[in-house]
Amino acid sequence: ATPDHYVVIGNPVAHSKSPYIHAAFAAQTAQALDYQRLLAPLDGFAASVQAFRQQGGKGANVTVPFKLDACALATQLTTRAAAAGAVNTLRFDGDKILGDNTDGIGLVTDIVRNAGVQLQGKRILLLGAGGAARGSLLPLLEQLPAELVIANRTLSKAQELQQLAQQYVTQIPVFARTFSDVDGHFDVIINATSASLQDDVPPLAGSLFDAGTLAYDLMYAAQPTAFLRFAATHGAQCRDGLGMLVEQAAEAFFIWRGVRPDTLTVLADLRQALNPTAEA
Ligand code: NDP
Repeated sequence: ATPDHYVVIGNPVAHSKSPYIHAAFAAQTAQALDYQRLLAPLDGFAASVQAFRQQGGKGANVTVPFKLDACALATQLTTRAAAAGAVNTLRFDGDKILGDNTDGIGLVTDIVRNAGVQLQGKRILLLGAGGAARGSLLPLLEQLPAELVIANRTLSKAQELQQLAQQYVTQIPVFARTFSDVDGHFDVIINATSASLQDDVPPLAGSLFDAGTLAYDLMYAAQPTAFLRFAATHGAQCRDGLGMLVEQAAEAFFIWRGVRPDTLTVLADLRQALNPTAEA
């Protein structure tokens, strides 16, 4: 069969692992598809999407800095994409452009299924109030945690996310805090700040972590991030965002193809490529 065409659109996009991940999914599930990188000019996202659609493109993943543009371009949004205010997956269907956001469900799947940590009834601390935190909000609350605390350097942004969350979910307590005002113990602490990019850690009390805590950093690198190193010194179980990356891709693949690929083999291969000395 002639392959269907998909792209990941970003700027920059050369570093994206999505072509590798989707090629692996396609091979595994015998789907006839072709997946490339598409570098769009910073002021040319809509035109790039339009040109790709005219060439017969079936769908796209969207990465930095175009997730808000993709949200504006979509003619239909899923609830989670509308709540996130950002779109990372587009499906072209005739005149319609369907927009979804699979980042948050990718995070939840990696925590619940891959790490084996249930979220129901748990105390969750979400660090950061940027795009990634906002995209994770509804998928986390759908797991019915006992409570969700959103902590951010800029308190007002955490408060905006708190209000947004409570527009969709009323039965779960959601709090907004600065980092220094967080106390108690958490079962799961998720770092959705970009502090790790500067090898920095949000200024948290070490007493928030213990051996029963899962510390999750959305960022991934060959070596543990500053946040995960800090969490490890307080005995926490640590996990980086590579699994989230693979799971958000699997969810996009399902939206386009109606087939669920096996993610664990792909995650193990990516881990090996990222850090050849790691075990899994
Ligand atoms: P944004 O720029 O939208 O938000 C950044 C957030 O980090 C803000 O809350 C900001 O706080 C906070 N922040 C930045 N620097 C510091 C610091 N030094 N100390 C404390 N807080 C800080 O970024 P995104 O939400 O898009 O991305 C966040 C992270 O998530 C990135 O590392 C990104 O790579 C990762 N990510 C991973 C994915 C995956 O698949 N694994 C998917 C998506 C994102 P303030 O509001 O005060 O400025």
